[in-house]
Amino acid sequence: MKYISTRGTAPTLGFEDVLLAGLARDGGLYLPDVWPTLKAETIASFPNKSFVEIAVDVIHPFTGDEISRAELHRMATEAYATFDTPEVTPLVELKPGLSILELFHGPTLAFKDVAMQLLARLMDHVLEKRNARATIVGATSGDTGGAAIEAFRSSKRVDVVILFPEGRVSDVQRRMMTTPKEANVHAVAIHGTFDDCQALVKAMFNDHDFRDSVELSGVNSINWARIVAQVTYYFWAASRLGNTKGLSFAVPTGNFGDIFAGYAAKRLGLEIDKLIIASNANDILPRALETGVYAMKDVVATMSPSMDIQISSNFERYLFEASGRDSAFVRDAMTSLASRREFDLGPAWSKLKSDFAAVSATEGDVADAIRNAKATYGYGLDPHTACAYVAAERETAGSNTVVLSTAHPAKFPDAIESITGERPGLPAHLEHLLQDTERFETLPNDLAVLQDFVRSRCRASTGVQ
Ligand SMILES: *Cc1c(COP(=O)(O)O)cnc(C)c1O
Repeated sequence: MKYISTRGTAPTLGFEDVLLAGLARDGGLYLPDVWPTLKAETIASFPNKSFVEIAVDVIHPFTGDEISRAELHRMATEAYATFDTPEVTPLVELKPGLSILELFHGPTLAFKDVAMQLLARLMDHVLEKRNARATIVGATSGDTGGAAIEAFRSSKRVDVVILFPEGRVSDVQRRMMTTPKEANVHAVAIHGTFDDCQALVKAMFNDHDFRDSVELSGVNSINWARIVAQVTYYFWAASRLGNTKGLSFAVPTGNFGDIFAGYAAKRLGLEIDKLIIASNANDILPRALETGVYAMKDVVATMSPSMDIQISSNFERYLFEASGRDSAFVRDAMTSLASRREFDLGPAWSKLKSDFAAVSATEGDVADAIRNAKATYGYGLDPHTACAYVAAERETAGSNTVVLSTAHPAKFPDAIESITGERPGLPAHLEHLLQDTERFETLPNDLAVLQDFVRSRCRASTGVQ
């Protein structure tokens, strides 16, 4: 299996190199040069297979010979043993035809664990083979940082440094990053905003001497392996619901990673009726689908912060597909986005309208959905999942539909309490978080200081075994 860049000029790479590279050198994102497909018999065997077995069947075509099925099976088994249920991503039926796919049973109560836990094992495996190390530096506004630290805390080959804006993440989110005791994970509070943290990370990647000296690597949502890992649960859900005519999926969308995994499932051969993009008030994707123009506005803060995004990075992957794999079109679109904050979808618009539906939920819609699901089904939605619940009601009236639930409501207790009057508690096995000792560094918004910190802590540069 070979991978090509959406911008057309980066070298073609195999799975392992794509895994370690993240972004392509021409600024583009990697995609398979030819989409694999699953045999109808393979898909038909899924109702009798476990989550891990389905994961191996779905992911192996993307790794090709570089990773064997046996190795993948071992890594997936370890990754999903960190979840609190053997089903990994259980389905809860609200009413006949309408189910919630709970993706939040991993260690940090958000769906990012599904991909990150496997990604960490894949990276360790590849680095071990190459006798190499890597340093991961990332910025987080909340969920990604905790998922990365939890996933890599047992890594033998990777050191992780996560920057978060001091005082601007929730207590639970901070404690998930600051309570792990392992010496290879570092949470750093930066005197600044999330944008400052992201600018620092970008500056470190652009400093090529520094980048090489610490073997810098990324795990943000453009990493192809994260998307591949997310394809599994679309097949899993369909296999458990025994629907052969095609389900619809409503997906809380920010960076377009999760819903692109749904599109990939379709390319692999899963029958899907509608793929519904669910947005909050930051509605760039529903507007693009409606008007044919992808036009940025300023980000507004909502109760679903992980979807408060204006540039959906993974949308570039879809644009490449929908334009008939026209890398010149993608390059022009991205240049226009950088200079004029918008681009015309051109030939990709009609494809977009046939491949997806899109719904944006206002803050009022979200509050109504949370109250309604509680009153009607006794089910507690988190604000991200609530956007998808609204989208499902509008697009399919809840028939043959799966709503992807991306977070546990206890991760956003203030929002839920303000809507329902009840504060959702953490699951019992995580209550210790609130007592555990925290450990983090506080640093100024200063690139040189941060680079010294990273150099002194990471094993890739100090030669420590
Ligand atoms: C990251 C995240 C999302 C958005 O997922 P994308 O893959 O970026 O579209 C939605 N909900 C929650 C809770 C998240 O953490």
